[in-house]
Amino acid sequence: MATHHKVIVIGSGPAGFTAGIYASRANLDTAVFEGMQPGGQLMITTEVENYPGFEEGITGPQLMDTLRKQANRFGAKSIYETIQKVDFSQRPFKLWSEKEEYTADAVIISTGASARLLNTPSEQKYWGRGISACATCDGFFYRGKDVMVIGGGDTACEEANYLSNLCNSVTLVHRRQGFRASQIMVDRIKANPKIKLALDCVVDEFVGEEVNGFPSLTGAKLKNVVTNEIIDVKAEGAFIAIGHKPNTDIFQGIINLNEEGYILTEGKSTYTNVPGVFACGDVQDFTYRQAISAAGSGCQAAIDAERWLLMNS
Ligand code: NDP
Repeated sequence: MATHHKVIVIGSGPAGFTAGIYASRANLDTAVFEGMQPGGQLMITTEVENYPGFEEGITGPQLMDTLRKQANRFGAKSIYETIQKVDFSQRPFKLWSEKEEYTADAVIISTGASARLLNTPSEQKYWGRGISACATCDGFFYRGKDVMVIGGGDTACEEANYLSNLCNSVTLVHRRQGFRASQIMVDRIKANPKIKLALDCVVDEFVGEEVNGFPSLTGAKLKNVVTNEIIDVKAEGAFIAIGHKPNTDIFQGIINLNEEGYILTEGKSTYTNVPGVFACGDVQDFTYRQAISAAGSGCQAAIDAERWLLMNS
Protein backbone atom coordinates (compact mmCIF):
# COMPACT_ATOMS: atom_id res chain seq x y z
CA MET A 1 0.00 0.00 0.00
CA ALA A 2 1.52 3.30 -1.10
CA THR A 3 1.87 6.19 1.37
CA HIS A 4 0.05 9.28 0.14
CA HIS A 5 0.99 12.93 0.61
CA LYS A 6 -0.80 15.91 -0.87
CA VAL A 7 2.54 17.42 -1.95
CA ILE A 8 5.82 15.60 -2.40
CA VAL A 9 8.99 17.70 -2.67
CA ILE A 10 11.93 15.84 -4.19
CA GLY A 11 15.19 17.36 -2.97
CA SER A 12 16.30 19.19 0.15
CA GLY A 13 18.36 22.23 -0.82
CA PRO A 14 17.18 25.83 -0.26
CA ALA A 15 14.53 25.41 -3.01
CA GLY A 16 13.12 22.18 -1.56
CA PHE A 17 12.93 23.37 2.04
CA THR A 18 11.44 26.72 1.07
CA ALA A 19 8.80 24.88 -0.97
CA GLY A 20 8.27 22.72 2.15
CA ILE A 21 7.82 25.80 4.37
CA TYR A 22 5.29 27.42 2.05
CA ALA A 23 3.35 24.25 1.23
CA SER A 24 3.05 23.15 4.86
CA ARG A 25 2.07 26.66 5.97
CA ALA A 26 -0.68 26.45 3.35
CA ASN A 27 -1.93 23.45 5.34
CA LEU A 28 -0.99 20.93 2.67
CA ASP A 29 0.27 17.56 3.87
CA THR A 30 3.85 17.82 2.60
CA ALA A 31 6.80 15.41 2.54
CA VAL A 32 10.33 16.48 1.60
CA PHE A 33 12.48 13.66 0.26
CA GLU A 34 15.99 14.53 1.36
CA GLY A 35 17.81 12.29 -1.12
CA MET A 36 21.45 11.33 -1.45
CA GLN A 37 22.83 14.59 -0.08
CA PRO A 38 20.42 15.96 2.56
CA GLY A 39 20.72 19.75 2.52
CA GLY A 40 22.08 19.84 -1.03
CA GLN A 41 25.13 21.67 -2.34
CA LEU A 42 25.36 24.05 0.63
CA MET A 43 26.35 21.13 2.84
CA ILE A 44 29.76 21.14 1.17
CA THR A 45 30.42 24.87 1.54
CA THR A 46 31.77 26.61 4.61
CA GLU A 47 30.65 30.23 5.14
CA VAL A 48 27.60 31.68 3.37
CA GLU A 49 27.79 35.47 3.61
CA ASN A 50 25.32 36.48 0.92
CA TYR A 51 22.11 34.84 2.14
CA PRO A 52 19.99 37.80 3.30
CA GLY A 53 19.09 37.89 6.98
CA PHE A 54 22.39 36.69 8.40
CA GLU A 55 24.42 39.81 9.10
CA GLU A 56 27.47 37.87 10.27
CA GLY A 57 27.07 35.05 7.72
CA ILE A 58 26.18 31.46 8.47
CA THR A 59 27.76 28.14 7.54
CA GLY A 60 26.09 26.15 4.76
CA PRO A 61 25.23 23.21 7.05
CA GLN A 62 23.78 25.56 9.71
CA LEU A 63 21.65 27.32 7.13
CA MET A 64 20.28 24.03 5.83
CA ASP A 65 19.63 22.73 9.33
CA THR A 66 17.68 25.92 10.10
CA LEU A 67 15.64 25.67 6.89
CA ARG A 68 14.85 22.02 7.60
CA LYS A 69 13.68 22.81 11.16
CA GLN A 70 11.59 25.72 9.87
CA ALA A 71 9.89 23.43 7.32
CA ASN A 72 9.40 20.64 9.90
CA ARG A 73 7.90 23.15 12.39
CA PHE A 74 4.93 23.72 10.08
CA GLY A 75 4.44 20.01 9.48
CA ALA A 76 6.57 19.26 6.41
CA LYS A 77 7.94 15.78 6.98
CA SER A 78 11.59 15.05 6.18
CA ILE A 79 11.97 11.61 4.65
CA TYR A 80 15.56 10.37 4.42
CA GLU A 81 15.07 8.35 1.28
CA THR A 82 15.93 8.93 -2.37
CA ILE A 83 13.23 8.93 -5.04
CA GLN A 84 14.52 6.56 -7.69
CA LYS A 85 11.59 6.24 -10.09
CA VAL A 86 8.47 8.24 -10.91
CA ASP A 87 5.31 7.69 -12.92
CA PHE A 88 3.62 10.99 -13.76
CA SER A 89 1.34 9.50 -16.43
CA GLN A 90 -1.73 9.47 -14.15
CA ARG A 91 -2.92 11.08 -10.93
CA PRO A 92 -2.23 10.61 -8.13
CA PHE A 93 1.40 10.60 -9.23
CA LYS A 94 3.46 7.56 -8.24
CA LEU A 95 6.98 7.73 -6.82
CA TRP A 96 9.29 5.01 -5.57
CA SER A 97 12.17 5.35 -3.12
CA GLU A 98 14.67 2.60 -2.36
CA LYS A 99 12.20 1.47 0.34
CA GLU A 100 8.59 2.24 -0.54
CA GLU A 101 5.99 3.42 -3.00
CA TYR A 102 4.47 6.86 -2.49
CA THR A 103 1.68 8.79 -4.18
CA ALA A 104 1.08 12.55 -4.37
CA ASP A 105 -1.46 14.98 -5.79
CA ALA A 106 1.26 17.47 -6.68
CA VAL A 107 5.04 17.08 -7.00
CA ILE A 108 7.71 19.74 -6.65
CA ILE A 109 11.08 18.80 -8.15
CA SER A 110 14.06 20.49 -6.50
CA THR A 111 16.79 17.93 -7.10
CA GLY A 112 19.41 20.58 -7.91
CA ALA A 113 22.52 20.31 -9.99
CA SER A 114 25.95 19.03 -9.16
CA ALA A 115 29.13 20.89 -10.06
CA ARG A 116 31.34 18.77 -12.27
CA LEU A 117 34.60 18.09 -10.50
CA LEU A 118 38.10 17.32 -11.71
CA ASN A 119 38.32 14.19 -9.57
CA THR A 120 42.01 14.73 -8.82
CA PRO A 121 43.08 13.12 -5.52
CA SER A 122 43.86 16.42 -3.74
CA GLU A 123 40.55 18.08 -4.72
CA GLN A 124 38.52 16.54 -1.87
CA LYS A 125 41.17 17.47 0.70
CA TYR A 126 40.94 21.21 -0.07
CA TRP A 127 37.24 21.32 -0.94
CA GLY A 128 35.71 24.22 1.03
CA ARG A 129 39.23 25.05 2.26
CA GLY A 130 40.39 26.94 -0.81
CA ILE A 131 38.59 25.04 -3.54
CA SER A 132 35.09 26.10 -4.53
CA ALA A 133 32.73 25.79 -7.48
CA CYS A 134 31.14 29.24 -7.16
CA ALA A 135 32.99 32.57 -7.40
CA THR A 136 29.88 34.64 -6.60
CA CYS A 137 29.47 32.64 -3.39
CA ASP A 138 33.06 32.41 -2.21
CA GLY A 139 35.15 34.97 -4.14
CA PHE A 140 34.84 37.55 -1.39
CA PHE A 141 36.95 35.36 0.94
CA TYR A 142 39.92 35.84 -1.40
CA ARG A 143 39.99 39.63 -1.61
CA GLY A 144 43.52 40.83 -2.48
CA LYS A 145 44.75 37.25 -2.90
CA ASP A 146 45.95 35.17 -5.83
CA VAL A 147 43.38 32.72 -7.19
CA MET A 148 42.88 30.39 -10.13
CA VAL A 149 39.86 29.41 -12.19
CA ILE A 150 39.74 26.10 -14.03
CA GLY A 151 37.70 25.81 -17.24
CA GLY A 152 37.31 27.36 -20.68
CA GLY A 153 33.56 28.00 -20.95
CA ASP A 154 31.45 31.10 -20.30
CA THR A 155 31.24 30.31 -16.58
CA ALA A 156 35.03 30.15 -16.20
CA CYS A 157 35.48 33.43 -18.12
CA GLU A 158 32.71 35.14 -16.18
CA GLU A 159 34.14 33.93 -12.86
CA ALA A 160 37.67 35.03 -13.85
CA ASN A 161 36.38 38.51 -14.70
CA TYR A 162 34.36 38.70 -11.49
CA LEU A 163 37.31 37.59 -9.37
CA SER A 164 39.65 40.07 -11.08
CA ASN A 165 37.66 42.86 -9.39
CA LEU A 166 38.32 41.34 -5.97
CA CYS A 167 41.61 39.52 -6.16
CA ASN A 168 45.26 40.37 -6.70
CA SER A 169 45.59 38.03 -9.67
CA VAL A 170 43.58 35.34 -11.43
CA THR A 171 45.17 32.46 -13.35
CA LEU A 172 42.74 30.91 -15.80
CA VAL A 173 43.68 27.28 -16.37
CA HIS A 174 42.27 25.66 -19.49
CA ARG A 175 43.14 22.29 -21.00
CA ARG A 176 43.49 23.51 -24.60
CA GLN A 177 44.20 26.69 -26.61
CA GLY A 178 40.68 27.21 -27.98
CA PHE A 179 37.87 28.36 -25.72
CA ARG A 180 34.34 27.02 -25.55
CA ALA A 181 33.27 30.43 -24.21
CA SER A 182 31.73 33.06 -26.48
CA GLN A 183 34.21 35.32 -28.26
CA ILE A 184 33.19 38.43 -26.36
CA MET A 185 34.00 36.70 -23.05
CA VAL A 186 37.34 35.48 -24.37
CA ASP A 187 38.23 38.98 -25.63
CA ARG A 188 37.34 40.39 -22.24
CA ILE A 189 39.58 38.04 -20.28
CA LYS A 190 42.45 38.49 -22.73
CA ALA A 191 42.22 42.27 -22.30
CA ASN A 192 42.12 42.05 -18.50
CA PRO A 193 45.62 42.76 -17.09
CA LYS A 194 44.84 40.91 -13.84
CA ILE A 195 44.06 37.63 -15.63
CA LYS A 196 46.93 35.34 -16.64
CA LEU A 197 46.23 32.45 -18.98
CA ALA A 198 47.62 28.95 -18.41
CA LEU A 199 46.51 27.25 -21.64
CA ASP A 200 47.07 23.61 -22.61
CA CYS A 201 47.26 23.05 -18.85
CA VAL A 202 45.49 20.75 -16.41
CA VAL A 203 45.73 20.55 -12.63
CA ASP A 204 48.14 17.77 -11.77
CA GLU A 205 47.75 18.30 -8.02
CA PHE A 206 46.43 20.89 -5.59
CA VAL A 207 48.91 21.76 -2.83
CA GLY A 208 48.55 23.38 0.57
CA GLU A 209 49.57 23.50 4.20
CA GLU A 210 47.98 22.90 7.58
CA VAL A 211 46.55 25.95 9.33
CA ASN A 212 45.15 25.42 12.84
CA GLY A 213 44.90 21.72 12.11
CA PHE A 214 42.97 22.16 8.84
CA PRO A 215 44.22 21.88 5.27
CA SER A 216 44.53 25.22 3.50
CA LEU A 217 45.19 25.65 -0.22
CA THR A 218 48.36 27.45 -1.31
CA GLY A 219 48.41 26.60 -5.02
CA ALA A 220 48.57 23.88 -7.63
CA LYS A 221 50.98 22.01 -9.80
CA LEU A 222 49.81 22.41 -13.39
CA LYS A 223 50.83 20.07 -16.15
CA ASN A 224 51.23 21.36 -19.69
CA VAL A 225 49.56 18.63 -21.74
CA VAL A 226 51.68 19.43 -24.82
CA THR A 227 55.16 19.63 -23.25
CA ASN A 228 54.49 17.64 -20.03
CA GLU A 229 56.16 20.49 -18.13
CA ILE A 230 55.02 20.91 -14.51
CA ILE A 231 54.33 24.52 -13.50
CA ASP A 232 53.84 25.69 -9.89
CA VAL A 233 51.11 28.31 -9.49
CA LYS A 234 50.44 30.14 -6.23
CA ALA A 235 46.74 30.47 -5.36
CA GLU A 236 44.85 30.59 -2.08
CA GLY A 237 41.58 30.02 -3.92
CA ALA A 238 40.78 27.70 -6.82
CA PHE A 239 37.41 27.90 -8.57
CA ILE A 240 36.40 24.88 -10.59
CA ALA A 241 34.16 26.00 -13.44
CA ILE A 242 33.95 23.01 -15.75
CA GLY A 243 30.16 22.89 -15.89
CA HIS A 244 27.24 21.51 -13.88
CA LYS A 245 25.08 18.45 -14.28
CA PRO A 246 21.39 18.81 -13.39
CA ASN A 247 20.09 15.90 -11.33
CA THR A 248 17.36 14.85 -13.74
CA ASP A 249 18.26 11.30 -14.74
CA ILE A 250 14.98 9.87 -13.35
CA PHE A 251 12.91 12.43 -15.29
CA GLN A 252 14.34 11.65 -18.75
CA GLY A 253 11.46 11.00 -21.13
CA ILE A 254 8.93 12.00 -18.45
CA ILE A 255 9.43 15.77 -18.07
CA ASN A 256 10.56 18.12 -20.84
CA LEU A 257 14.27 18.90 -20.42
CA ASN A 258 16.57 21.16 -22.42
CA GLU A 259 19.53 19.65 -24.26
CA GLU A 260 21.74 19.97 -21.18
CA GLY A 261 19.17 18.12 -19.07
CA TYR A 262 17.72 21.10 -17.14
CA ILE A 263 13.96 21.01 -16.56
CA LEU A 264 12.04 23.42 -18.79
CA THR A 265 9.54 25.57 -16.91
CA GLU A 266 6.84 27.75 -18.43
CA GLY A 267 7.56 31.49 -18.55
CA LYS A 268 8.17 32.95 -15.13
CA SER A 269 6.25 30.12 -13.44
CA THR A 270 7.51 26.81 -12.03
CA TYR A 271 5.07 24.77 -14.16
CA THR A 272 6.63 21.89 -16.07
CA ASN A 273 4.94 20.32 -19.10
CA VAL A 274 3.14 17.86 -16.76
CA PRO A 275 0.21 19.59 -14.99
CA GLY A 276 0.67 19.19 -11.23
CA VAL A 277 4.46 18.78 -11.42
CA PHE A 278 6.53 21.87 -10.66
CA ALA A 279 10.28 22.51 -10.67
CA CYS A 280 12.39 24.99 -8.73
CA GLY A 281 16.01 25.74 -7.87
CA ASP A 282 19.14 24.77 -9.77
CA VAL A 283 17.45 21.84 -11.54
CA GLN A 284 15.72 24.45 -13.76
CA ASP A 285 18.05 27.44 -13.32
CA PHE A 286 21.41 27.42 -15.06
CA THR A 287 21.77 31.20 -14.91
CA TYR A 288 21.71 32.40 -11.30
CA ARG A 289 22.44 29.25 -9.25
CA GLN A 290 22.30 31.07 -5.91
CA ALA A 291 20.85 29.79 -2.63
CA ILE A 292 18.60 32.83 -2.41
CA SER A 293 17.31 32.56 -5.98
CA ALA A 294 16.71 28.83 -5.42
CA ALA A 295 14.80 29.59 -2.22
CA GLY A 296 12.75 32.22 -4.09
CA SER A 297 11.77 29.76 -6.77
CA GLY A 298 10.90 27.18 -4.07
CA CYS A 299 8.40 29.70 -2.70
CA GLN A 300 6.98 30.18 -6.21
CA ALA A 301 6.67 26.40 -6.74
CA ALA A 302 4.70 25.93 -3.51
CA ILE A 303 2.36 28.81 -4.41
CA ASP A 304 1.93 27.43 -7.95
CA ALA A 305 1.21 23.96 -6.51
CA GLU A 306 -1.27 25.30 -3.95
CA ARG A 307 -3.21 27.26 -6.60
CA TRP A 308 -3.12 24.34 -9.02
CA LEU A 309 -4.44 21.97 -6.32
CA LEU A 310 -7.29 24.37 -5.54
CA MET A 311 -8.37 24.27 -9.18
CA ASN A 312 -7.75 20.52 -9.71
CA SER A 313 -8.72 18.69 -6.51
P1 NDP B 1 30.65 24.49 -20.52
O1 NDP B 1 30.26 23.07 -20.65
O2 NDP B 1 30.27 25.45 -21.57
O3 NDP B 1 32.24 24.59 -20.40
C1 NDP B 1 32.95 23.72 -19.57
C2 NDP B 1 34.44 24.01 -19.73
O4 NDP B 1 35.15 23.19 -18.82
C3 NDP B 1 34.97 23.69 -21.14
O5 NDP B 1 35.88 24.66 -21.54
C4 NDP B 1 35.66 22.33 -20.95
O6 NDP B 1 36.81 22.16 -21.75
C5 NDP B 1 36.13 22.42 -19.51
N1 NDP B 1 36.19 21.10 -18.90
C6 NDP B 1 35.20 20.17 -18.85
N2 NDP B 1 35.62 19.08 -18.18
C7 NDP B 1 36.91 19.33 -17.83
C8 NDP B 1 37.89 18.59 -17.13
N3 NDP B 1 37.64 17.39 -16.63
N4 NDP B 1 39.09 19.14 -16.95
C9 NDP B 1 39.38 20.39 -17.42
N5 NDP B 1 38.49 21.14 -18.09
C10 NDP B 1 37.25 20.63 -18.28
O7 NDP B 1 30.12 24.94 -19.06
P2 NDP B 1 29.82 26.40 -18.48
O8 NDP B 1 29.44 26.20 -17.07
O9 NDP B 1 30.94 27.32 -18.77
O10 NDP B 1 28.55 26.89 -19.30
C11 NDP B 1 27.34 26.14 -19.29
C12 NDP B 1 26.31 26.85 -20.15
O11 NDP B 1 25.91 28.07 -19.53
C13 NDP B 1 26.86 27.23 -21.52
O12 NDP B 1 25.84 27.09 -22.47
C14 NDP B 1 27.23 28.68 -21.37
O13 NDP B 1 27.21 29.40 -22.59
C15 NDP B 1 26.15 29.17 -20.41
N6 NDP B 1 26.60 30.35 -19.65
C16 NDP B 1 26.29 31.58 -20.13
C17 NDP B 1 26.71 32.71 -19.46
C18 NDP B 1 26.33 34.03 -20.01
O14 NDP B 1 25.79 34.08 -21.09
N7 NDP B 1 26.60 35.11 -19.30
C19 NDP B 1 27.50 32.64 -18.24
C20 NDP B 1 27.80 31.30 -17.83
C21 NDP B 1 27.37 30.20 -18.52
P3 NDP B 1 36.68 21.91 -23.32
O15 NDP B 1 36.27 23.21 -23.92
O16 NDP B 1 38.05 21.48 -23.71
O17 NDP B 1 35.66 20.82 -23.48
